[in-house]
Amino acid sequence: MEVTALKNDLDLEAVGEAMHRFLVELYPICRSITGEGVRETLRRIRQHIPLDIHEVPTGTPVFDWTIPREWNIRDAYIKDPAGNRVVDFRSHNLHVLGYSVPVKATMTLAQLKEHLFTSPEHPDWIPYRTSYYKEQWGFCLSQRQRDALDGQPPDTEYEVCIDSTLEAGHLTYGESLVPGARSDEILISCHVCHPSLANDNLSGIALATYLAERLSQCTLRYSYRLVFAPGTIGAIAWLARNEGHLDRIRSGLVLACVGDAAPSSYKKSRQGDAEIDHAVEHVLTHSGDEYALLEFSPYGYDERQYGSPGFNLPVGCLMRSPPGAFPEYHTSADGPDLVRPTYLADSLNKLVAVLEVLEHNVGYRNLKPKCEPQLGKYGLYGALGGKAEGRVPELAMLWVLNYSDGAHSLLDIARKAGIPFAHIKRAADALHEAGLLEALVD
Ligand code: ZN
Repeated sequence: MEVTALKNDLDLEAVGEAMHRFLVELYPICRSITGEGVRETLRRIRQHIPLDIHEVPTGTPVFDWTIPREWNIRDAYIKDPAGNRVVDFRSHNLHVLGYSVPVKATMTLAQLKEHLFTSPEHPDWIPYRTSYYKEQWGFCLSQRQRDALDGQPPDTEYEVCIDSTLEAGHLTYGESLVPGARSDEILISCHVCHPSLANDNLSGIALATYLAERLSQCTLRYSYRLVFAPGTIGAIAWLARNEGHLDRIRSGLVLACVGDAAPSSYKKSRQGDAEIDHAVEHVLTHSGDEYALLEFSPYGYDERQYGSPGFNLPVGCLMRSPPGAFPEYHTSADGPDLVRPTYLADSLNKLVAVLEVLEHNVGYRNLKPKCEPQLGKYGLYGALGGKAEGRVPELAMLWVLNYSDGAHSLLDIARKAGIPFAHIKRAADALHEAGLLEALVD
């Protein structure tokens, strides 16, 4: 089946539920930019799609960066004198500052204080903090937990333990190729480095996994490369190791924060007017839903690595809430309940619609360019579409005939005409079948 059939056959309710179940399954794993959490996540993705898991050794230079030491953690806590875990990694993995070096000590609150991070504006939420490149240790806790510590006598001694290791190892990323007729690729990338955070991280992973699974059932023009990599350093490592093949990438999308209730949003590629930018804008414009379009900026997810000036790849970012634009962002409130199956499904539906455009965005040449051909002669006048479609199909044929001049693709024509791509494509198929168009070789 082609992507169009995939789009029409999607059981959005069922696939939304399935993506959400996968997100719930991945949620408890303590991921970071390196370590067993990322590996375990990739192994679970591999239960759904074929996935090559790559290991890049600590110390490997990747452009201006170096692969860091691998971080793993087993346990962490702050215990009061009665032996109660007043802060406990086992109850939430956000309780530990990501990449904390090991510590085992007894100290008072005064000594512990500088290692505690809270989010006072949301007193029940645990903030998400990391320190990848500066050696540090710390705990993240709710303001209420912190207030309880402040309520104890100042000479209270706490047992502080972070049972972690930071040693030579690897950075791990996963890659899956869904082959199409052409070797040109569409890149789909998402970050896999956040611990128990649902919208920021897991929604993108679930969407990319289910997309790949469905695409593998399709007959495709392009090949699709899915990259599941730790944010920033993982994308940089992938780019460094694939620099020789980047000319294969025709278009790309970073997927992030695709499961919350906000309308879909799209951050354009650095190029700003690439085919992917036009395709996503077109799909969102005709979706009937609210949406937001954002210009490229060198802040956000890995589109900023793909769109660094030395590469300038046509890779945009598909989201709902942008990073930092929802109150739960980077806190324990970004849990599985913030992400709803219906929004995941809606994101998948729009993503597949974008890929449908890319798959079928070809150009034609009008073989009767001198005045309009007499459509009735070819059985095309009034031949397409039911009453509900109104005059769109004929109008679409006129647009396709007029702009099939060798310089415009079907997407260019759909955008000029303000007509949904699917109508333009149907018109082009009919005209091609009637011998009025020839396909351009691209
Ligand atoms: Zn994040």
